[in-house]
Amino acid sequence: MQKGTILKTEIIEIAQGGDGVAKPDNFTLFIPETVPGDTVLAEVTEAKKTYGRAKVLEVLQAGPERVMPACSYFASCGGCSLQQLSYMEQLKAKRKIVQDSLTRIGGFKDIDHLVKPVLGMTNPWYYRNKIAVPVQPDSKRQLRTGFYEKGTHNIVEMDKCLLQADPGNEIWQTVVFLAREYGLQPYDEKTHQGVLRHILIRVARRTNEALVVLVLNTQGFPQEKELAKEIMKRHPQVVGVVKNTNTKKTNAILGSHTETILGKDHMIDYVGPLAFKVSARSFFQVNPQQAEVLYQVAKEYAGLTGKEHVLDLYSGIGTIALYLAPAAKKVTGIEVVPEAIEDAKKNAEFNNLNSAIFVHGDVAELLTQKKYQADVIVVDPPRKGLDLTVIEGMVKMGPQRIIYVSCNPATMARDLKEITNHGYTIRAVQPVDMFPQTPHVETVVLMSRVKVNTMF
Ligand code: SAH
Repeated sequence: MQKGTILKTEIIEIAQGGDGVAKPDNFTLFIPETVPGDTVLAEVTEAKKTYGRAKVLEVLQAGPERVMPACSYFASCGGCSLQQLSYMEQLKAKRKIVQDSLTRIGGFKDIDHLVKPVLGMTNPWYYRNKIAVPVQPDSKRQLRTGFYEKGTHNIVEMDKCLLQADPGNEIWQTVVFLAREYGLQPYDEKTHQGVLRHILIRVARRTNEALVVLVLNTQGFPQEKELAKEIMKRHPQVVGVVKNTNTKKTNAILGSHTETILGKDHMIDYVGPLAFKVSARSFFQVNPQQAEVLYQVAKEYAGLTGKEHVLDLYSGIGTIALYLAPAAKKVTGIEVVPEAIEDAKKNAEFNNLNSAIFVHGDVAELLTQKKYQADVIVVDPPRKGLDLTVIEGMVKMGPQRIIYVSCNPATMARDLKEITNHGYTIRAVQPVDMFPQTPHVETVVLMSRVKVNTMF
């Protein structure tokens, strides 16, 4: 296969990144924006020894589960890439991604029956509680907002995103309208001039509160109070408008300094029975409805009776630890970001959960100090998964159960393999769809010591 080759081929499945996969003459071709069953005319854009990439020139015959993307910006926006596949098939594709990772990367045999159907959403739209849109000047130096075009920093101007929960889109458009009215200069990343860089809006599903964050290239702007007042007048659910200063030449959205312009600096939202104070910089699950589903699975798998010591590794703002705390004797969360630990402690206090404690530090370092013990370990690492030292530290404690929560099936499969080398076995694998319309999949895995009988 060579770059430039044009061929007719059929798509057989969806790969982890969301691209369709074709296997002409056993050569693996990744072809974006295709679905299983499609017959396409494609041009090879990149060719390695055993695999390559191609782009669709024409869909000759559409696969049975190809649907019309619901979003009118789908073709240009880099946001979600699975919209052309029916939601039921998205869920099936995600289950297959998890199964394939376990088989191919983990080397597990006879694993398919342990992988449960993906827990999806009844309504797989309007689920995100956070919107962060970049601002740019257009050719007439007018302010425009939207999401980046695939693979670029060019904004596709838009007025709504179908993933965003109400009233996020409406508030976004009001902020854009008022920013233009008040002559707020759009930030230009090429010249580093201008004022408004990003508009960030958080909405709370359960309390109906909202928080607006104006990310500025300056300390403030003259009419900020009036503008904030006008936003809050038009959207009474906005409990606060804050400004965040980011003067660096960086892709990071937020800078380190945040100040309230009007109202509160946080909103309150719930995950299950837990209340959280969510401020401009707080990490908070973007799909709280499915986060609850995920934590519920983790709780069920933990099988707590009230006597257990639980370790929550990579605890973030403590959500899982706090979710498990009422059912355990003691829960210890470990997390490397100091602000997240501060938030976790505040959240424990806010919810009157004093059996949860939070320790700041690197998981690998703290586990090698050998001062922790656990009956149950929950581990929710970043995409790169676990270092060997972490796995060794975990298995040395000899917990009855290990619950591995993962956002990356590939590193998860690698790590599960290693854990099974230390006397543990996989009992159940439950994928959860936290990000419908995108290829991301979260998975909760229950492992227990081989000699122990469990109900799973
Ligand atoms: N369990 C949390 C979030 C997990 S995200 C929740 O459900 O909300 C992964 C977390 O791991 C992040 O908060 C990140 O800051 C933290 N982290 C990354 N590397 C780490 C390390 N070496 N030691 C401790 N925490 C780490």
